[in-house]
Amino acid sequence: MQWIQNLFSARASEPARSDAPLFLTNTLSGKRDLFTPLKAGSATLYSCGPTVYSRAHIGNLRAYVFADVLARTLSFAGYHVRRVINITDVGHLQGDGDHGEDKMEAGAKQEGQTAQDIAARYTKLFLEDIRLLGVDTDDISFPRATDYIDEQIDIVKKLEEKGYTYKTNDGIYFDTAKYANYGALDHSGAKQKEEAFAEIGRRIADNAEKKHPADFALWKFSPRGSRRQQEWSSPWGVGFPGWHIECSAMARALLGQPFDIHTGGMDHIPVHHTNEIAQSEAAFEKPLARFWMHGAFLTIDNRKVSKSAGDDIYLSDITARRLSPLSLRYLFLQAHYRSPLSFSWESLEASNEALSRLTRLARTIKHEAKGRLQQSDASRRMIALLRDDLATPSALALLWETVKDEDMEREEQLAVIDAADAVFGLSLLAEEAEVPEHIQALVRERDIARVSKDFSKSDALRIHIESSGYHVEDGPSGTIVTRRPG
Ligand code: AMP
Ligand code: ZN
Repeated sequence: MQWIQNLFSARASEPARSDAPLFLTNTLSGKRDLFTPLKAGSATLYSCGPTVYSRAHIGNLRAYVFADVLARTLSFAGYHVRRVINITDVGHLQGDGDHGEDKMEAGAKQEGQTAQDIAARYTKLFLEDIRLLGVDTDDISFPRATDYIDEQIDIVKKLEEKGYTYKTNDGIYFDTAKYANYGALDHSGAKQKEEAFAEIGRRIADNAEKKHPADFALWKFSPRGSRRQQEWSSPWGVGFPGWHIECSAMARALLGQPFDIHTGGMDHIPVHHTNEIAQSEAAFEKPLARFWMHGAFLTIDNRKVSKSAGDDIYLSDITARRLSPLSLRYLFLQAHYRSPLSFSWESLEASNEALSRLTRLARTIKHEAKGRLQQSDASRRMIALLRDDLATPSALALLWETVKDEDMEREEQLAVIDAADAVFGLSLLAEEAEVPEHIQALVRERDIARVSKDFSKSDALRIHIESSGYHVEDGPSGTIVTRRPG
């Protein structure tokens, strides 16, 4: 009973905030499993990162808020969390399989810049976006695939030595038929799997030498007669790594193998993660990760938000409408991470209003409780919900019930808010102290100008406050001023 041992050894050393165990849905087992770490008191977490040929849209951002809520839940439960989000700056082809142009090379051509230039620009924008969404990027490593070419080549060499590879005219492929456990992550029936393969298998038309539609490229050769912007020499010739191998290499290099939890969007289950598992486990004969967790899609009008649909919404569209970036985070929290969520501007505006009101109520309670917390059944229920596979919709409902409960002791209310805030990352309690007195004075002056309908003065004051690094929002129950993250 290794898991019981792990559980107790974890408890012995971790400063756990409660004794409740943590349950997470593990795609690998197909059920909700008790989380036990590999190393007592610590948790290692790898999330597939963005392909930086364009800006991350709000669908992509949902995947990183989910990973952040997971990381915060683990931290709140007392684990020291080590996180990696990779930056895909090579090898992800337009067909998401082994055909089509490299998204980075195509994006660079389209923008008339180098692949490195667009990678740097979109990586910066990505980091800014997730910071605005309340993700603390100082606690995360962001390795670039192009910095781990040797590690990727080493895994391919190992697979070659063990007989898992074959060569075609365009690259080195993984032979899925040689790996008995192929596809274990994807619990879909055989027929569904064949259909998925058939779709991926369009690429067989591009490469008739492939033995099976599911086989995938580990190393691709540069096209004959032309030079790519990004290419490297290897034992098999000049080329570039396949998309899946980068995650296997970076996760192993930075977190070890196995590590605790791997996350991504549900679209990664049948191909990208299935292939990561196959190559890593075949090469090293041990699991890559113990828990595989997948977030559901954000949709608009019943369609997955996707870069190719061409009608993406970005975080900058949200701030341009003067809506708080955290209102998007609030919207995400209203759905369980495993449920699809439909985006509309109306629902985002409602989230913005709700968040303003919740923040006001939370701050009033904090003030009245004089910052003192008192644990009670309500706070224990809150912690239990968060530890029950990140049940954010029920936790949010409990938070509202709590802040509206006039009969509850303020200290007890504050303990519930504190637990929710640690995991939700909505900064319900944080900012008040961070707003210095001179900014608060400007806010008061602006409030007076607004009441006396001196709108040119109130606008000028808003510009002054915002240029000092603060965000002003006129919520239904008063002005809310917050420090701009980053
Ligand atoms: P990409 O940059 O395409 O590699 O995607 C980055 C992350 O966003 C991956 O984890 C995807 O699974 C996830 N993702 C892509 N589209 C959506 C969507 N509409 N909703 C939620 N997650 C998504
Ligand atoms: Zn990945």
